[in-house]
Amino acid sequence: SVKNKSVKNYAVYDQKLRANLILEQEIVNDMESALENREFKVYMQPKCDMDTGKIVGAEALVRWQHPEKGLIPPSEFIPAFEKNQFIIKVDYFIWEEVCRELRRQIAAGKRPIPISVNVSRTNLYQNDLYQQLVSLVERYQIDPALFQLEITETVYARNMEYLSKVVDRLQAYGFTILMDDFGSGYSSLNMLKDIHIDVIKLDMRFLTGETDGHDKGGDIMSSVVRMAKWLNLYVIAEGVETEQQVEFLLSINCHYAQGYYYYRPMPMDVFWNLIEDREKVDDQGMRHKMGDTF
Ligand code: C2E
Ligand code: MG
Ligand code: MG
Ligand code: MG
Repeated sequence: SVKNKSVKNYAVYDQKLRANLILEQEIVNDMESALENREFKVYMQPKCDMDTGKIVGAEALVRWQHPEKGLIPPSEFIPAFEKNQFIIKVDYFIWEEVCRELRRQIAAGKRPIPISVNVSRTNLYQNDLYQQLVSLVERYQIDPALFQLEITETVYARNMEYLSKVVDRLQAYGFTILMDDFGSGYSSLNMLKDIHIDVIKLDMRFLTGETDGHDKGGDIMSSVVRMAKWLNLYVIAEGVETEQQVEFLLSINCHYAQGYYYYRPMPMDVFWNLIEDREKVDDQGMRHKMGDTF
């Protein structure tokens, strides 16, 4: 009966909830030692020029190589770390790893490549964020143009003025600012109005159905790309998985993408080996390709 079914579902849900709570507790118990033991790993996912398939940059993504649980994706620990603020330390750790890797490559005479890191919401509101980032790139002697910052839409609209000032300072220093997951929250336009960013990352998962011309998602994406052009911003589509998506994106003049269609996130050493192949990399990086097509 319906009643039995809902009681049963409730029991299943309750079990899952308990399992999640236990897991969260375990994660919190293990986090300090994980940082000390350097169990957090940086994975790299290339960003590509869709016309040539060549690599124009990459995003650094955290993983937790847990001694018993194996490789844990960020979706399983970031929510807990946002809650207890441990994300501040994990973000710093990842940023430093990226700076160290860039410095090592440059010291070895290799060509560096722009790498973006994620800045958690919590970190965005830390008073010393600017100082932390600046002293990091200074310590490792990294051109801030090579160290890009991905920030996420925020619902704290009342802090927009503060955020706007922080972002302006970071930009003035030379960091490139990317707005991550554009369109997934409910304050995208608001943020675009008040925060001076350089790049919009448009999530393909925003599209639910096919882009057959009847789908509003496609129209909205197309409008975002045109709006970006007017605002003099780059657009990178993320979560690109299929050839059809590539064709659609090119048809709306979006030329940069990140997604499984091109590369999955990979360990740091695999990434550096990959870009050793000069054929795979676009040395000019991202240029405006939207041109006069509007
Ligand atoms: P994000 O910053 O939007 O990163 C993109 C996510 O999409 C990554 O998931 C990536 O693996 C995934 N992805 C890339 N291409 C595809 C595709 O074609 N299809 C699908 N289905 N997914 C794709 P990941 O690595 O699991 O990270 C999830 C989120 O965790 C990130 O989303 C970001 O919000 C957060 N995150 C990751 N690393 C860090 C970090 O170091 N610090 C902070 N604060 N957050 C991080
Ligand atoms: Mg990101
Ligand atoms: Mg994203
Ligand atoms: Mg995303």
